[in-house]
Amino acid sequence: MIQVEGINIAVEGCFHGNFDEIFGEILDIEKKKQIKIDLLLVCGDVQTIRNKNDMYNMACPKKYLEMGSFYKYYTGEKIAPCLTIFIGGNHEASNYLREMHFGGWVCPNIYYLGNSNVIEVKKGNTTFKLGGNSGIFNNHDFNNPKLESFPFTQDQLHSVYHIKQFDLYKLNLYEGDINIFLSHDWPLSIEKHGNINDLIRKKKHFEADILDGKFGSISHQYLLNKLQPNFWFAAHMHVKFEALVNHQSNKKTKFLALDKCLPGREFLQVFTYTKEGVDLYNQFAFNNEPIELYYDPEWLAIMKTTFNLQLIWDKMPKLFDINYAQKELKIIRWQKYQQMLQAKQQLLINYKNQRIKIPNNFQITATPHYKNDPTNKLTLPNRVILNNQIDDYLKLFNESGLQLNGFLFYEPQQPQKKEIQNQFQVINKIEIQQNKEKVKQEILKQLDQQQKQQKINDNLNILDFPLLQ
Ligand code: 5GP
Ligand code: MN
Repeated sequence: MIQVEGINIAVEGCFHGNFDEIFGEILDIEKKKQIKIDLLLVCGDVQTIRNKNDMYNMACPKKYLEMGSFYKYYTGEKIAPCLTIFIGGNHEASNYLREMHFGGWVCPNIYYLGNSNVIEVKKGNTTFKLGGNSGIFNNHDFNNPKLESFPFTQDQLHSVYHIKQFDLYKLNLYEGDINIFLSHDWPLSIEKHGNINDLIRKKKHFEADILDGKFGSISHQYLLNKLQPNFWFAAHMHVKFEALVNHQSNKKTKFLALDKCLPGREFLQVFTYTKEGVDLYNQFAFNNEPIELYYDPEWLAIMKTTFNLQLIWDKMPKLFDINYAQKELKIIRWQKYQQMLQAKQQLLINYKNQRIKIPNNFQITATPHYKNDPTNKLTLPNRVILNNQIDDYLKLFNESGLQLNGFLFYEPQQPQKKEIQNQFQVINKIEIQQNKEKVKQEILKQLDQQQKQQKINDNLNILDFPLLQ
């Protein structure tokens, strides 16, 4: 076995609450190969259930509802054997993940990436950018720009995990290199880049969708072509599948989907990420520096640029158009997208030299389940709270989570979004005044030039983007 400097990574498909089993498997691999796994990446359906409230906020047939063992990791009774990072699938404690909408620790050593995110992973001299997009694609809910507010109705319990156009928009503003990307369902047509016959042989019921060209998510197909990461890991289809995508830019993406955790199934893959970014199966890193997570400056700039847009969530304009006949998803209101892109580039000037470590600021925020609870009672508080982690995070770009109360969070004691919106808009306006003026002037200058060159069909309404007002 060759020793290299790098990060030993295990990737897992669907997790389905199997904390003890999957962590047990990690320990077995470590013992067998005499290595230390630095990082476990999980591609969704994790089921981080802390208590009965969470159980009833998960979309799942009633007969499969189980408490699982997450609550032991939540209380610290047990601890994940390695740093674990996950994105959400379609079976999650959606109330809890909503609390961590922009990313956060769900318990010590287990980090949820949020609805969409890009972060930096570092160990010694090796670093890589990790991106992700939680949920699965649903055409109806993608086109309906509303965000579900807690408490969720039965319908919302399902739509809450459907991919939102806003997250795709944010990821689409990312221009840097992403090395590893995580999703739950697969990019549309990814099967064409791998052994399609083998896939159909293993999963006969995929054949009709594959032949119809309807297999996978159109939003992930779009992102795969746009971001062109070195690796893309996914799950959801309950089968292992490998593909290699050669992009027009000559970049390559190695795609790997893994199965769910069941005996005898291929649900784990171990590999080593090295500084050169090459995957070295069967070669492992023996350098044992600690692994660290950092915020990504460009993502912070995107968060700041798009922050005000989500305050008008209930009136948010449609940002994408999907032409199913052409299998094409595209941005509409192109000029406005360009404005956002430029606003981000301006902010990035301030953010780019900042290296901010993701703090270990996990705190227990709900009453955990306890083993001998004979009752079926819900535990308080049954709401999506604005927790300390989101508060800390939003402070990084001078925003307050209270602006999102009433739709992202649900703090009945605090003013709801509608009451405080005006007040915060004033504060916000002052805070971003300097940047805004500069960006606005540049954009107006550019638009002026563009208008001279071509007739703009898209009727520009700058009011839709409060940042640029
Ligand atoms: P889950 O574990 O999320 O409840 O269910 C995932 C299951 O749905 C998998 O077993 C997979 O076979 C099936 N599935 C998900 N998406 C598709 C699809 O687009 N076409 C087909 N035929 N099956 C799908
Ligand atoms: Mn799933």
